[in-house]
Amino acid sequence: MNNPFGNQKIDIDCPACHKSFKKSIGDLSNKRSIKCPSCGVDIKIEGDLGRQMRDLDKAFGKLFK
Ligand SMILES: [Zn+2]
Repeated sequence: MNNPFGNQKIDIDCPACHKSFKKSIGDLSNKRSIKCPSCGVDIKIEGDLGRQMRDLDKAFGKLFK
């Protein structure tokens, strides 16, 4: 199934080097962590980031119902 919000980009702040970068939801949806492109540290997808994704999921779920 093609995910309608898979291309939606969200901002991620690296807790280690404090650089921010963008990732698409599709890149993140099946991962528990992502690697910072700047310093290479693993960033866990949880807390604010997880909440952000759930909010987007909800918002888009309403749009595409
Ligand atoms: Zn980093």
